[in-house]
Amino acid sequence: MNIPRTSFPRVVIVGGGFAGVALAKKLSKQELQVVLLDKNNYHTFQPLLYQVSTGGLEPDSIAYPIRKILKDFPNFHFRLAHVQEIDANHGKVITDIGVLKFDYLVVASGSKTNYFGNTEIEKYSMAMKTIPQSLNLRSLILENFEDALLTSDLNERNALMNFVIVGGGPTGVELAGALAEIKKVILPKDYPDLDTRMAQIHIIQSGDCLLKGMSEKASQKAEDFLEKLGVNVWKNVRVTNYNGKTVTTNTDLTFETATLIWAAGVKGATIKGLDAQEFLVRGNRLLVNEFNQVKGFENIFAVGDVACMQTETYPNGLPMMAQPAIQQGHQLGDNMIRLIEKEPMKPFKYKDKGAMATIGRNKAVVDLRKFKFQGVFAWYVWMFVHLFFLIGFRNRMVVFVNWVYNYVRFDREARLIIRPFKKRLKP
Ligand SMILES: Cc1cc2nc3c(=O)[nH]c(=O)nc-3n(C[C@H](O)[C@H](O)[C@H](O)COP(=O)(O)OP(=O)(O)OC[C@H]3O[C@@H](n4cnc5c(N)ncnc54)[C@H](O)[C@@H]3O)c2cc1C
Repeated sequence: MNIPRTSFPRVVIVGGGFAGVALAKKLSKQELQVVLLDKNNYHTFQPLLYQVSTGGLEPDSIAYPIRKILKDFPNFHFRLAHVQEIDANHGKVITDIGVLKFDYLVVASGSKTNYFGNTEIEKYSMAMKTIPQSLNLRSLILENFEDALLTSDLNERNALMNFVIVGGGPTGVELAGALAEIKKVILPKDYPDLDTRMAQIHIIQSGDCLLKGMSEKASQKAEDFLEKLGVNVWKNVRVTNYNGKTVTTNTDLTFETATLIWAAGVKGATIKGLDAQEFLVRGNRLLVNEFNQVKGFENIFAVGDVACMQTETYPNGLPMMAQPAIQQGHQLGDNMIRLIEKEPMKPFKYKDKGAMATIGRNKAVVDLRKFKFQGVFAWYVWMFVHLFFLIGFRNRMVVFVNWVYNYVRFDREARLIIRPFKKRLKP
């Protein structure tokens, strides 16, 4: 990998997401050699992926080059590498570009879509976990309308204009709201010769409320907002299968659709070598102690979505969200410095800063620790927080200008089929 051996201990971080970047920033001014490995050369701001999928933002405004984030740190090395295996006993990681020895290893590989073992759903549905997947979804949505315009078969046309989102968490809710706005404002202008009123957006949630984990008020308000926008909200319905055409559920309900978007869950993106059952708990996450050490190791740590730190308040592990990942990255940085200076490490304590989701123009719900509010003010708070956490001044400016433009013009200019996507439909 062409990384020099120095007298400094080598810390290898797998993953340049929220946790990995927060940690690398903390460590890079220390007497340590920090090597960050990621299969992408950019950091993805996942909370805004749905805006890429729905043409509100260009992908490069929510991605940032990892090399640029850490360019000023002399002891820092980045390699574009897919980590394939961890050999914990010999202290090395095996990647597609070679083998690298470590003194300390931090697994910050995040999470991946969880299909709960349903291979048909995995094959035919659309996920939205990465930028390429979001671009696929953007293309598919637009291609569906182009195809709907051409067919004279009414059932086929309706299926092309039906969108089924599975999962009533923030991702599902935000996507449903954005699609509803496209239907209302953009489609009638873009497709005057298509009856776009026939387009249907369904959101299906297996539990009895949307935005589980947020307050009852936020959940109810989000549902009201979606219904006002014309979204069909189905609660207590579990999707059982999708064959590329028909969605079946555990009730009598079925849906004919060319697009099923799966936002129903994620699981830890574990890596071979550290994926044995003895290391894992619920959600395919690595069990870590209060110092983020992986069970059974002193020099191997895990942070962010892939790590499961069980606490009294969170017996199933901390939420798989950006804040726990960032806070763990920071804290582990401080702890590694303590470790090297032979001082005792401090246990991690999660500071819950709240949760929020936007449903559309002037519509958001925000639960802070002390205050809970919904509507226009919540929407401004949502925008401010997302701008604040985006990496890079240019990205913030581009996103801000896009949002102002979209707000004033009722528009989403990035509705482009740059890279056509064809779904693998059943013969
Ligand atoms: C659509 C969507 C919307 C979301 N919205 C919100 C929100 O509004 N608020 C919120 O708090 N959270 C939200 N989240 C969750 C949040 O994005 C995650 O909790 C957060 O990204 C976790 O950070 P992380 O550092 O653990 O992992 P990630 O940010 O996922 O980073 C993991 C990194 O590891 C790399 N990687 C993985 N495996 C390998 C490998 N084998 N080799 C090399 N590199 C590898 C990946 O390329 C990636 O860069 C959302 C997530 C999604 C998908």
